[in-house]
Amino acid sequence: MNEPGQVLINRKEIAQKVEELAFSINQDYQNESVLFVGVLKGAVVFLADLIRYMSIPVEIDFMAVSSYGNSTKSSGEVRILKDLEQSIDHKNVLIVEDIMDTGLTLQFLSKTLHQRHPLSIQVVTLLDKPQKRLVNIHPDYLGFTIGDNFVVGYGLDFGEKFRELPDIHVLNQ
Ligand code: 5GP
Repeated sequence: MNEPGQVLINRKEIAQKVEELAFSINQDYQNESVLFVGVLKGAVVFLADLIRYMSIPVEIDFMAVSSYGNSTKSSGEVRILKDLEQSIDHKNVLIVEDIMDTGLTLQFLSKTLHQRHPLSIQVVTLLDKPQKRLVNIHPDYLGFTIGDNFVVGYGLDFGEKFRELPDIHVLNQ
């Protein structure tokens, strides 16, 4: 098993949602510039699609934090594996995440980046699985709320596989 099963969100629905999210972000930041911080590796596809709709000046950078490895359960521990290449002092930061589950990753990232004195920090996540939330954290921009299934595709992996799938699938376990 551990193969992609039925399509949960298809490529058309994803594309439409990405455009809607970009519209809101463009409106909220108006003429300000924003640093998009992509959380490697899952958010790469989402970030790449999102920035092509931006009408405000955008910079991009990436962070990598420890992931679940080959497991589908959160270890609850978060460590920085790759940090930003630049200072975020007095910058508007938008953290771009693929999926929120326990919320521990985003809580850690928000806290860590807040200590670096940015002008602002917001979070956009394509997917949210609120059922397993362990901390009280809410994204500023949200694509889809989904149930407690492990999903793959559109950048999301299982053991580094299936990131290339254009739709989001439930993993058959
Ligand atoms: P959290 O810290 O909120 O529990 O987990 C966030 C991270 O867990 C995400 O960035 C993602 O890497 C991973 N994750 C959580 N749920 C899923 C899922 O359903 N599919 C995949 N591929 N990764 C997930």
